[in-house]
Amino acid sequence: MIHTAARVSVFTESVIREMTRLAAEHDGINLAQGFPDFPAPPELIEAARRALADGHNQYAITWGAPRLRRAIAEKVRWFNGLTADPERNITVTCGATEAMMATLLATVDPGDEVVVFEPFYENYGPDAKLSGAVPKFVRIRLEPGFPFDPDELGAAVGPRTKAIIVTTPHNPTGKVFTRAELESIADLCRRHNLLAITDEVYEHIVYDGAEHVSLATLPGMAERTVIVNSVSKSYSVTGWRVGWTIAPAPIADAIRKVHDFLTVGAAAPLQEAAVTGLEFPREYYARLADTYQRKRDTLLGILDGAGVRCLRPAGAYYIMCDVSDFGFADDYAFTMHLIKHVGVAPVPGSSFFHDPAHGKDYVRFAFPKRTETFEQVRQRLARLRPGTRAAAGARHPGA
Ligand code: GLN
Repeated sequence: MIHTAARVSVFTESVIREMTRLAAEHDGINLAQGFPDFPAPPELIEAARRALADGHNQYAITWGAPRLRRAIAEKVRWFNGLTADPERNITVTCGATEAMMATLLATVDPGDEVVVFEPFYENYGPDAKLSGAVPKFVRIRLEPGFPFDPDELGAAVGPRTKAIIVTTPHNPTGKVFTRAELESIADLCRRHNLLAITDEVYEHIVYDGAEHVSLATLPGMAERTVIVNSVSKSYSVTGWRVGWTIAPAPIADAIRKVHDFLTVGAAAPLQEAAVTGLEFPREYYARLADTYQRKRDTLLGILDGAGVRCLRPAGAYYIMCDVSDFGFADDYAFTMHLIKHVGVAPVPGSSFFHDPAHGKDYVRFAFPKRTETFEQVRQRLARLRPGTRAAAGARHPGA
């Protein structure tokens, strides 16, 4: 019997991807894993075809195809207001997932502490464990505006704190960190010499006039921030696995070393094709945000109609819901009922908390979906009525 490494025994399979599998098994509509069920922009598909035909079929330069790094630099200049040198600061990775992992492996020593806002995107748990980081959690309150307590944030920083991870717009809550909040985080980073790692993959998906601010643009932050981003959400190509980091040169050097030995590089033809997306005109992003705002409102309406209490997101493409009223034992029991008896799959809220008890009243629904999908969700959720719940074996509320 060959034993597997201890480091993989301390975390479980991704719950998000497990729900995708269960949804398929039960013919459920997958509102768990966040990916579009509508096609990618045709210009991108054509660009990918062209890249293959043009012979981009061998390794790209490990740091990323030069054209793509130049396109990223140009895009962050006009959109984020950032100066990035394609030669020194930008590294193309296999999605934001590798970007985050490579950044932690490159910057954190075992035992170093990393501050993470909670609820958090579930990857950060295993990311921390694999890199040896000790996560310190700061609660985002699940109420309108999703505030956090600056004193709690300050208290989370100690002598071993190395970094703070900020996801804005935030997954799973949809919080968009305000400039004032980011200024307070920047202040903390400068005072305690902390690295900031910002996951900005939903930067174009903001609602009701909310503004996306990159922490790296605040005074003194460019030299202590690693930006993690990807083409997945901005261009509806989550399967392409093309992401990147933007980091100060000495940190970029370290990230590049890790990246080189982890993956060598993301798929070369898709790196070439991604340039077409990064060169889309500004109107593309305004349309993207409008489209998602309508989708958010549609799903909010459907959930509300089914009696589900929603926390309205200001960005990203998820809705956190408080389902404690339904009387199930916990988020997992509610989710299983929904998948098996209603035919719709959310993610149990506990997968976004280090202590599952904190998420037991919540589930997360993703809404990058077509109108027809929402119609089916509406019809299926009609089954989620009082009465069907008791028949499905829910515990009595309060039991
Ligand atoms: N970021 C997406 C989500 O939160 C997809 C997760 C994944 O499968 N990598 O659902």
